[in-house]
Amino acid sequence: MAKICVIGSSSMDLVVTSSRRPGAGETVLGESFKTVPGGKGANQAVAAARLGAEVYMIGRVGEDTFGTDILNNFEANGVNTQNVKPVTHLESGTAHIILAEGDNSIVVVEAANREVTPAYVDEAVDVIRNADIVLIQQEIPEETVVHVSALCAKFGTPLLLNPAPARMISQEVIDNASYITPNEHEAEILFQGVSPAESLRQYPNKLFITEGSKGVRYFDGEQEVLVPTYQVKAVDTTGAGDTFNAAFAVALAEGKPLQDSIRFANRAASLSVTKFGAQGGMPTRAEVEESL
Ligand code: ATP
Repeated sequence: MAKICVIGSSSMDLVVTSSRRPGAGETVLGESFKTVPGGKGANQAVAAARLGAEVYMIGRVGEDTFGTDILNNFEANGVNTQNVKPVTHLESGTAHIILAEGDNSIVVVEAANREVTPAYVDEAVDVIRNADIVLIQQEIPEETVVHVSALCAKFGTPLLLNPAPARMISQEVIDNASYITPNEHEAEILFQGVSPAESLRQYPNKLFITEGSKGVRYFDGEQEVLVPTYQVKAVDTTGAGDTFNAAFAVALAEGKPLQDSIRFANRAASLSVTKFGAQGGMPTRAEVEESL
């Protein structure tokens, strides 16, 4: 079984649907409300666990009811929560989402996720040392990503960096990472002024740009390769990126060849868009294998 360490955010998404969004100072009546567990770190941990990996989450929650719900959701999906420790002075991370007029508006409050610090990660250093792969995103402090990349380089643990949300990353982090998986928008921000073709060429077999319904592009050392994804009837693409990254990490940790790993991840992510919700659409191992 592949051992995967996910270091990242956990939050509760508070989702309101409304016929329109309120302007400044205005109150409108909404139509529905629900809470769903989210956060890129938590989403990727849950996706990897559903795909059959042994998953160790390093994250933080508040000492509040959302924190309890987030922990229960990890447990229900078989994610190890020994290193998801409550923060006493901050709330659990939340995303406040309004779905109105065919689009969403989101306010994210990082709260406890700010406490995924380098010192906190050091408390779980053995998990990083013993993992087959470490999977990290950017909804936690930048210095933590830098620190984890250095630890992975020191231990020889492969690091998959999903640079989302987009921000500039240092050359040190790029060098320490084994795999970097921006979407097209994130790639533009990461490599400002450099064309996608040129940046792919600069990082052969390391940089993988996800292109939604087209698939994934990378440079194999000789030529640019597009691994097409599977044609499906997409109903909700939320969480496609999270499922892709988790599945890619699982396949790589199991020692699958690169192209097979991308195909496995494309299959898992394409299945995820056929159902509603980020975690709601994440497939099980059996579902992916049946349809490969
Ligand atoms: P999101 O933010 O919606 O979770 P993302 O912007 O991070 O996703 P995308 O490049 O849109 O990332 O999608 C990631 C991967 O998911 C794609 O490379 C592909 O494998 C799969 N995927 C996304 N959309 C579709 C689709 N409509 N049909 C099939 N596969 C898809």
